[in-house]
Amino acid sequence: MSSRFPYTRILLKLSGESFAKRGEGGIDPDLVLKVAEQIRICARQGINVAVVIGGGNILRGGTAAEAGMDRATADYMGMLGTVINALALQDACEKIGLITRVQSAIEMKAVAEGYIRRKAMRHLEKNRIVIFAGGTGNPYFTTDTTAALRATEVSCQVILKATKVDGVYDSDPFKNPDAKRFKKISFFESLQKQLKVMDATALALCMENNIPIIVFDIFKEGNLERLINGADIGTLISS
Ligand code: UDP
Repeated sequence: MSSRFPYTRILLKLSGESFAKRGEGGIDPDLVLKVAEQIRICARQGINVAVVIGGGNILRGGTAAEAGMDRATADYMGMLGTVINALALQDACEKIGLITRVQSAIEMKAVAEGYIRRKAMRHLEKNRIVIFAGGTGNPYFTTDTTAALRATEVSCQVILKATKVDGVYDSDPFKNPDAKRFKKISFFESLQKQLKVMDATALALCMENNIPIIVFDIFKEGNLERLINGADIGTLISS
């Protein structure tokens, strides 16, 4: 990874679990605040920040469908979960002085703007933090795919994918103590090796539009700041 962070507009992809204590669900306001503080550091360095938030801490459509729910209904519930998380992040960001806009792919006038690409880009130009909620608005997709889509639409130069591990490994580091972390890997290889870093739709979209992804550990305090200051952490996925 280059020693200087070369990007001026980033898309931060947060999984829902980054708002919950390890192994738990729900929303821990302290964790949300810590994420907001890291976003503020990026914004203060002049970086435009767009955020796509997941909903796994509330509900995953696939899991609910396995338990017997209709898949599309469960997915819509999952998307609504991402709106709850987006509002939590907006609240935390505004508490620390950031100006934010939540744009939802599912119309919800009372709590969020609808997703309008040109409006989102204008917000970013004005250094507002834009939080994309409601996923793509379609069932059978994920918020990783949403991140790839929105990053492409609003011209983000990179996706920072925040996870609970510090990069991409050749096997599950929680199960295999000898698992090796890749410093760099190509889109093609990550698709071929079926590494569970991002779903194939998201990876394919990033590959097609040449948007690199940096996978890093958001649970380690200050990691986002370290990343934008050029620290050699995480894994870079690129062409
Ligand atoms: N979801 C969906 N379409 C989308 C994005 C999300 O149906 O475009 C649903 C899907 O059920 C998913 C849930 O919302 O399981 C939460 O999103 P995701 O699993 O991507 O959240 P994360 O794992 O990042 O917390």
